[in-house]
Amino acid sequence: MNSDQSSPARSHALQRDLLEHTLDAITTPFYIIDSNWRIVYLNQAARESLRGLGHADRNHAQGMVLWEAVPDLVGTRFEKEYRRAMTTQTAVHFEEYHAPLNSWFRVDVFPTPATMVLQLRDVTREKVRQQYLADASKVLSQTLDYMETLRRLAQLSVPRLADWCTVDIANQNGELEQVVVAHSNPDKVRYARELRRRYPPDPESSGLYSVFRSGKSEFAHQITDEMLAAGVGDGEYLRMLRELGLCSMMTVPLTAHGKTIGVMQFVSAEGRRLYDAADVAFAEDLANRAAVAAHNARLFEGAKRREREEAALRKAAEAVTASFSVEEIINEIARSALDATEADGSFVERLNDDGKELRVVAVAGELHLELNSCIPFEGSLGQLVLEKNQPELVHVLGQSRFPLPGVLAQMFASSAALAVPLVDGGTAIGALILLRREGRAPFTEDEAKRAHTFGNLASLAFRKVHLLQESETRRTELEQLIESRSRLIRGFSHDLKNPLGAADGHASLLEDRMLGELGEKQLSSVKRIRSAIRAAVSLIDDLVELARAEAGQIKLRPHAVDVRELVREMVEQYRPAAEQERLSIKGTLEAVELIKSDPDRVRQIVGNLLSNAVKYTQPGGSIEVRTGIRKSDNDLQYPAGCVAIDVIDTGIGIPQDKLELLFTEFARIDPSVKPGAGLGLAISRRIARLLGGEITVRTERGTGSTFTLWLPLEQA
Ligand code: ADP
Repeated sequence: MNSDQSSPARSHALQRDLLEHTLDAITTPFYIIDSNWRIVYLNQAARESLRGLGHADRNHAQGMVLWEAVPDLVGTRFEKEYRRAMTTQTAVHFEEYHAPLNSWFRVDVFPTPATMVLQLRDVTREKVRQQYLADASKVLSQTLDYMETLRRLAQLSVPRLADWCTVDIANQNGELEQVVVAHSNPDKVRYARELRRRYPPDPESSGLYSVFRSGKSEFAHQITDEMLAAGVGDGEYLRMLRELGLCSMMTVPLTAHGKTIGVMQFVSAEGRRLYDAADVAFAEDLANRAAVAAHNARLFEGAKRREREEAALRKAAEAVTASFSVEEIINEIARSALDATEADGSFVERLNDDGKELRVVAVAGELHLELNSCIPFEGSLGQLVLEKNQPELVHVLGQSRFPLPGVLAQMFASSAALAVPLVDGGTAIGALILLRREGRAPFTEDEAKRAHTFGNLASLAFRKVHLLQESETRRTELEQLIESRSRLIRGFSHDLKNPLGAADGHASLLEDRMLGELGEKQLSSVKRIRSAIRAAVSLIDDLVELARAEAGQIKLRPHAVDVRELVREMVEQYRPAAEQERLSIKGTLEAVELIKSDPDRVRQIVGNLLSNAVKYTQPGGSIEVRTGIRKSDNDLQYPAGCVAIDVIDTGIGIPQDKLELLFTEFARIDPSVKPGAGLGLAISRRIARLLGGEITVRTERGTGSTFTLWLPLEQA
C-alpha cells in the first residue's frame, strides 16, 4: 500500500474529487450555498448556465455571494423563495420562469443549518408543451370546422415547436393536398406555397407519402446540405430549399380511428432547434388529438353539408319541375349550387348561337362576372370543361396550368374555381362556374361531383324549355295544318255536293216517271244510282263532320238530357234495321238523372254505335243497350261517376291488337266484311271528348263487343 494514499490530507482531496466528479455528472445545475449566501460549490451544469448568462466563470463564481454572481436573481421569486427556505429551514420547491435565459426552471431548495443546496432543472420544454397542449385543447374544443381546427393547431405550433408547420390531407384519389401552411412570416408562407406548387411531392419517393402510407412518423434530427442535395438533386428546387435554411424536421401521421387521413410536418429552420425522439413523441400526441378532432369535425360537417346539399338540391329540382321561366330556373340553380358548395360566388354562362361568346345569364353570391356580360369562348374555362365534358377544379385561377387568358383569371386571380359543363343531349350549352375566395380551402373532387348534379339540373332546365318551345311550335303548326285541311274539305265537299244534288234531282225525275215511262230494268238502275249518290253524300257529310271535329269547330248546344228516354228512342229507331238483319234488340234502361249535354250529338254517337252493332253482328245475334251510373274504368276525371251507355252485341268482335285502330280515321279492321269508310268511330270519339266524355270498348273476337259512351254526370 502506498503511504501517500493513506495520508489523511490526500484521502480528503480524493474524496473531494470524487464528490466533485459525481456532482459534475449531474446534468442539472447544482449549487451549495453557505449561511452568508456565498457559493461554496457549483457543478459543471451550473457553471455552464452562468456562462450562458455571460456572468462569472467558475473560479470567479465560487466563493462569491450568490446575489453578486447572479444579480438577475435579485427581486425575483428565486430570491424570495431562497430566503424563505433559509429563514424557515424548510425545503422549498417551485417552478419559475427565468427571463434572461428564456427558460423555465424547477427549483428544489434543501436548507441545513450551515449550508443550503439548490438544485435547478430546466423544464422549459415540458412547460411549453403543457401550455401548447392547453392551447390546443382549447382550439379542439372550440371549433367544429375541420379546416379551421387544423389551421389553428398549426398556427399554435409556430414558433413554439417549429418554424414551419404544414398539414396535408389526402383527397379521394389518395393524393396529399397541402391544406395548411403556418409560419410567423406571411412572406414565408407564400414562399412555401409556391415551392409546393412548383414541386409537388412525389408519391413514390417523398417522405410525406411514406409517412401517410405507413402511418409511422419519420424525423431528421439534423438536415445537412448533402441530405438536401441527395433528396432533390441539383437545380432550382435545391436553391429554393436552401433558402429555407432547413435544420431539423419531423413528419407525423394524422391518424384517427386507425385510419390515416393526412400528414403533419414540423420544420425547424431559423430557430435552429434539433428535434429528438421526445419531440417526435410529443408531435405524435398532438397529431393524434388533431386527427381525432378533425375526424369528428368532418363527421359533423359531413352531416351538416349533406343537409345543406339536400335542401339546395330539392330547391333546384323544384325549380326545374315547377313551370318557371328558364331565367328563374337558372337563377335558382346558380343560387342552390352556391349554397350546396358554400362558394363565395357562382354564375351560369351560356354559349351564344354563333359559338363564339359566353354570356353570363345568372349570378349568385358576391364573386361573379357581371350579369349579361360576354366573354370570348376561346380559351375560357367554359370551353375547357365543355370540351372534356367533365368538371374542372382550379386551385388558384391566376396560377392555373391551363391557358386562361380570360377575364375570369384576371378578375379573380387568387380565387379557387370549380367549373361544370352544361350539355343538352350532346349539344354544348354553357357552364356553371363556382368561385371561392383566397384563403379558403379550394374545391374538392367531392364538391365537383355535387356541382355536376346542379349542372345536370341546369341542363335539364334548358332541355325542358327547349322542348316546351318546340312542342309549342309544333302545336301551332299542327293547328294550322288541321285548319287548312278542314277548309279544303269544306270547300271541296261544297263543290262535290252541288253536282251530286243536281244528279240526284234528275235521277228522282226519272224515278218519279216525270220524264216518261221506264221499264223494270231502267227503274232499278235509277234506284241504284240514287243510292250510290246518297252514299257519296253521306261520306262527304262524314268528312266535313270529321274536319270540323278535328279543328274544334263543332258547336255544342247543351240542354237537359234525359238519357234513358233518349236511348229508348234510339233503340226503337234501330229496331226495324235490326229485325231486317234477324237480330233481337232490347234496352235495359236504368233511370238516370237529367244531365247537361248536347242531345243531338249524343244521338249521333249512340246511332253510330247501334248501326255498327247491326252491321257487324251475324243474323240470329242480339243487341242490348244499357244505361246506368258508374265509375268509369279508364281514368276519366269524374270521381263522382259517369253516365254510361253500353251498346252490347254478340257480333264478330275485334282482335285485341287492333283496338286502338278502331278510332283512327279511315281504319277498318276487315274491309271485306261490310262496306264502310272507317270514319264513324273516329268522329264519335272526337265528339264524345268534346262533350267531356269518352268512348271505350271491350271485345272478344267471335263473341261480341261492348262499346260504352261515357258522359260526365253534370247536373242539368
Ligand atoms: P265503318 O263501320 O264505316 O267501317 P267505323 O269507324 O264505324 O267505320 O268502324 C271502324 C271499324 O271498326 C269497322 O270497319 C269495323 O271493322 C270495326 N267495328 C266497329 N264496330 C264494330 C262492332 N260492333 N263489332 C265489330 N267490329 C266493329
